[in-house]
Amino acid sequence: MVGELVDKDNSKYLIKGKQSNWEVVIGLEVHAQVSSNSKLFSGSATKFGAEPNTQVSLVDSAFPGMLPVINQYCIEQAVKTGLGFNAKINSYSVFDRKNYFYADLPQGYQISQYKNPIVGEGEIILDLPSGTKKIGIERLHLEQDAGKSIHDIDPSNTFVDLNRSGIALMEIVSKPDLRSPDEVNAYIKKLRSIMRYLGTCDGNMQEGSLRADVNVSVRKEGDTTLGTRCEIKNVNSIKFMQMAIDYEAKRQVELLESGKSIDQETRLFDTKKNETRSMRSKEDAHDYRYFPDPDLLPLKLSEDFINKIKKNIPELPDEKKKRFIEKFNLTPYEATILVSDIETSKYFEEVVKDSDVKLAANWIIGELFALLNEKNLEITQSPISARNLSKLINLIKDGTISGKIAKTLFELMLDGDKDPEILVEEKGLQQKSDPKELENLIDGVIKDNPDKVAEYKSGKVKLFGFFVGQVMKVSNGTANPQLVNEILKKKL
Ligand code: ADP
Ligand code: MG
Repeated sequence: MVGELVDKDNSKYLIKGKQSNWEVVIGLEVHAQVSSNSKLFSGSATKFGAEPNTQVSLVDSAFPGMLPVINQYCIEQAVKTGLGFNAKINSYSVFDRKNYFYADLPQGYQISQYKNPIVGEGEIILDLPSGTKKIGIERLHLEQDAGKSIHDIDPSNTFVDLNRSGIALMEIVSKPDLRSPDEVNAYIKKLRSIMRYLGTCDGNMQEGSLRADVNVSVRKEGDTTLGTRCEIKNVNSIKFMQMAIDYEAKRQVELLESGKSIDQETRLFDTKKNETRSMRSKEDAHDYRYFPDPDLLPLKLSEDFINKIKKNIPELPDEKKKRFIEKFNLTPYEATILVSDIETSKYFEEVVKDSDVKLAANWIIGELFALLNEKNLEITQSPISARNLSKLINLIKDGTISGKIAKTLFELMLDGDKDPEILVEEKGLQQKSDPKELENLIDGVIKDNPDKVAEYKSGKVKLFGFFVGQVMKVSNGTANPQLVNEILKKKL
């Protein structure tokens, strides 16, 4: 049956056809918006969500005679990103004109790098459940974004918003090294993580700061040559990328198995119908007539310029993961999760400044993440500060409170980031470890339950748990369970 997956758990994603198993090959062209206050060739603002056409200069709207002036900051951002991908930085690159007509492109061409991109080959390391995998980066080039055509405000008119026109994009082209929707998920997340660490792209997919063209082909398991690819344009969520790949790969297998061939074509993903559809085939592929933009000189970067940027590269997720494993003795799993987002890693390091590492990792990955998830919050909006979580952990560690009480305390802390030390005092939540005090509680429980005691003594040893429960209950959960066990055994 076409479309059934085989061997998915074994990290191999194969589509089971009638004749054989098929491997899926994927390469991504990711468009990442450069974090910059102004555009690539003009001083206009780039802020998301502004009123339409309020961030448009004469350059962005392509008034005749206007000249582009390159924004050095955007160049630095692209170089920084390239360094973050361990890529070759090209000291010589060229801006070309990619000519085409569209209402949201008043220039009649997009300025983009073509044959000579600013960044060459690099690589990204994916952390997969089955281990790590390297994905090659083919190139990274700079280009301008186009404006936005809005078709759904009016039934018979299309509106154009040029705020986006001229914003700097990095197009990051991967090698065809990806093999499954899960790898695509890991790849996008890793790219985004690195760029957020670097501060070169905010990676906000809802706002369109990160979107991708997804190239998909299939080949028989074991084949070494690549099949013909289709390119699915402009997909703006990871979920949609995964759905599109799944659909597209199965479509191709079905065609090939019925003796047909794949047309290399551009397709779009219809998110409502969950299918890809042809936009244009290779025969009518655009001839963009690229040529070097005569308004812009080739870009030459000095070694000094590149080195200065290199010096300012912060510790990136892969190095941080290594350090977390070595310094804090975390498992690779824990480290991967804690470094994946720079803000999470900062929070973790703040917590462990003066508290137990293992407990900190458990509480952040467990309780805190569950809470943030439930409330749909970023870690920077956490209702519990790193300082107070660290105090909570210390209270557990030194035996002041039990693990169970800690969960209650955690809930209480939510209300205005309360200090757990103060809460423990106020509510009398300290663990009771004084044997005298516990003996009194236990004597009370024994006295109140003479029948149960008799049953226990006549051999119903299962009742032991009942007594422990009663003691915990009368102590409001604060009795030290271990001591309760010991004393109870003696008394009974
Ligand atoms: P184009 O501009 O024609 O789309 P690019 O070189 O910019 O070409 O991008 C091609 C993308 O397609 C790359 O990400 C590459 O890895 C991917 N790719 C190339 N061949 C295949 C293939 N046979 N199957 C899947 N992906 C492919
Ligand atoms: Mg392409």
